[in-house]
Amino acid sequence: MFVSDCLGLNALGHLTIGGRDTVELAQTYGTPLYVMDEDEIRQACQSYRESINKYYGGHGMVTYASKAFCCKAICKTVMEEGLGLDVVSLGELYTAQSVGFPAERIFFHGNNKTVEELCAALEYGVGQIVVDNVTELMILNELAISAKEKANILFRIKPGIDAHTHDFVRTGQIDSKFGLALETGEAMNAVKAALSMEGIRLKGLHCHIGSQIFDIEPFEHAAEVMLQFMADIKAQTGAELEVLDLGGGFGIKYLPDHDPVEYDRYMMQVSGTVKKTCEKTGLRMPFIVIEPGRSIVGPAGITLYTVGAVKEIPNIRTYVSVDGGMGDNPRYILYQSQYEAMVANKAGQPKTQSVTIAGKCCESGDLIGEGMQIQQVEPGDIIAVLATGAYNYSMSSNYNRIPKPPVVMLRGGKDRVVVKRETMEDIVRNDLL
Ligand SMILES: *Cc1c(COP(=O)(O)O)cnc(C)c1O
Repeated sequence: MFVSDCLGLNALGHLTIGGRDTVELAQTYGTPLYVMDEDEIRQACQSYRESINKYYGGHGMVTYASKAFCCKAICKTVMEEGLGLDVVSLGELYTAQSVGFPAERIFFHGNNKTVEELCAALEYGVGQIVVDNVTELMILNELAISAKEKANILFRIKPGIDAHTHDFVRTGQIDSKFGLALETGEAMNAVKAALSMEGIRLKGLHCHIGSQIFDIEPFEHAAEVMLQFMADIKAQTGAELEVLDLGGGFGIKYLPDHDPVEYDRYMMQVSGTVKKTCEKTGLRMPFIVIEPGRSIVGPAGITLYTVGAVKEIPNIRTYVSVDGGMGDNPRYILYQSQYEAMVANKAGQPKTQSVTIAGKCCESGDLIGEGMQIQQVEPGDIIAVLATGAYNYSMSSNYNRIPKPPVVMLRGGKDRVVVKRETMEDIVRNDLL
């Protein structure tokens, strides 16, 4: 009935998350409010880990792409679940460090890491730096030499896969700011350069073909292309790379008709493809890394808002204004992303209305969604937007000087605040006269 397993309906006809009444949570903490279910997050971590154990003999690792939702609590949770962590900035690395995340399980990504970030990565002993380009390779080599270290790296490769998803979140094709191209020889040249560098230990290759992908074939195709490239590297240089990182991008259910692949099936099919391709090319089975972000935290989160004005424009549309908007969820204005919404205090009633949910920012485009099916709504109702656990809090802003909402985490049905609500003092904290 609901898009996520952690959601339900109680005897009062209210929406529940992790067994807790969302209307009550909205009363306790105020709105707008992010609520997340830690049990659902842990379950997702375990499913991914078990799938690697089951289908790939445990010769692999799941790293959580922390950009989907990064705070101390989530870093600690995925650490406890035995996952690795992807970071793409000093801020994400700092967050990981602050909970003592094991450095060897951290992967540092990004297409334009600063010298400061590379130094911090070396200093913390980050397990793998995923090098995007030759400029970065040369800088890292020098930094590592002067620190008398050898940096473990993977190369970010563009495998040239079209993953049938939104253009803005498609990154495997040649016209992408990320990574080294295969077709042009750029990738092979970088590999040869790295193999001769004193400060660099080339461990393997990485690709990430996009996000919110519902098919398995693009991942299988990417694995084949990457392994073929590993075989070419072996043939041309004699070096056999150990690590193949296939990225993230597994789609989740935002709308009732979305049909994501079971986490299990992905590893089942892709490990089969890896085994076959290794036999064909004579390569050893590489250590496999996958990097889910959205699918670990997305389904576990919701956002709660209070309805203000309801503006009916006859024969055009009904605007339902809420006390949040693009500041806490910029995904509609960025990509027209679709979400399911409901009136949390009337969740048991049929959805009889199609509305546009609007935020409170001074932007006509500040919408949560258009044509959203919802129960009969009136001022004071609580609206829940579902599956907002990924790329909502992490992409939030203070536009219009609106404070960011808090994140309440539920575990075993018990609630705790893991990110505090911003105050007006926070809003002016860095202002100087
Ligand atoms: C964004 C990203 C991910 C995670 O993508 P999801 O769609 O959230 O699973 C993994 N790896 C890299 C390199 C990324 O940039």
